[in-house]
Amino acid sequence: MKKIISILGSTGSIGTQALDIVEKHDLKIHALAAKKNITLLEKQVRQFKPELVCIFDKEYYSELKSNLSDMSVKIVTGMEGLCEIAGDRKADIVLNSVVGMIGLQPTLASISAGIPVALANKETLVAGGSLVMKASKEKGVPVIPVDSEHSAIFQCLQGNKHSQISKILLTASGGPFYGYTKKQLEQVTAKDALKHPNWDMGNKVTIDSSTLMNKGLEFIEAKWLFDLQPEQIEVIVHRQSVVHSAVEYADNSVIAQMGTPDMKIPIQYALFYPDRLPCPVKPLSLTEYGNLTFAKPDLEVFRCLPLAIRAIQEGGTMPCIMNGANELAVSAFLQGKIGFLEIADIVEAAMQNISCTDIKDCDDVLRADEKARQFVMGLNLYSG
Ligand code: MG
Repeated sequence: MKKIISILGSTGSIGTQALDIVEKHDLKIHALAAKKNITLLEKQVRQFKPELVCIFDKEYYSELKSNLSDMSVKIVTGMEGLCEIAGDRKADIVLNSVVGMIGLQPTLASISAGIPVALANKETLVAGGSLVMKASKEKGVPVIPVDSEHSAIFQCLQGNKHSQISKILLTASGGPFYGYTKKQLEQVTAKDALKHPNWDMGNKVTIDSSTLMNKGLEFIEAKWLFDLQPEQIEVIVHRQSVVHSAVEYADNSVIAQMGTPDMKIPIQYALFYPDRLPCPVKPLSLTEYGNLTFAKPDLEVFRCLPLAIRAIQEGGTMPCIMNGANELAVSAFLQGKIGFLEIADIVEAAMQNISCTDIKDCDDVLRADEKARQFVMGLNLYSG
């Protein structure tokens, strides 16, 4: 029987690569959701014929509706629409690949409807990891990681006991500015930061990757997904992105997952787990690489990583505050409003100025996120 999937964020980097996989395998699309790219979304609707579509930004709703008036598809909008898709039980699995905190409510909607989630939206776990994992456990609904490092760890955990994990080795490419001094980083622009050496990704994650915040977010993501203590996670810079992460067990045996750096492998693994099917990516040739290198990250220069680690050590809403401030700082950097090093300054200032509280429900998370955003807006980065 065909597996039926819904994709949140279908026009983004992960979404479009997931649709490439859908084309190659026996999968059926039930629903698609995108933020604002109605041209591509319309094309996808015509090709994959979903029953349900969400255009998140309400201003594009009427245009999409009229463009698709010849198709029998229900069109919804906003957070309500996104959650309607996420919680629609006609899908066997939901791929959540939206960018940012807006992914939290749909993730919770899928879990509460009993639908497994293939999760590519790391901010969901950074901001509300305790809520998501608690719901997943209570409902018995799996959250399967799509992020390449977490997919690697997930694969290395198969057949082993959680109680026998000593630590995980979370690999980082180091991004385009590896080896740069603070002085050199003062000059870099968004254009420089968008040139990632190994991975082809969306803008937000590529900037996060250049500041090492991406690794900070992934550190927190790993803590929640695999129920670890922060002390059990070690970040290692591995420039070639061939070892996608590893797990060290009690006997000091280390199991790593390797492959060509291509997101199609982890996306496909999450969609078909536990099956491994042919995947349209280049096979890994270790002799082509010759050498693989490993180093400690420079925490003095790339301050976003230690800030993220500090946030998860503090716990409560602190990771959510850190994430909200980072989302706005990255957007300001992409618009040329602030310099590269100011991203960490803004995140740190938000963490110092906003008080951390416990998380009891989703509202606590949304309130902390809002406070972080208001704090950054109050810095008047957008004036003048
Ligand atoms: Mg990753």
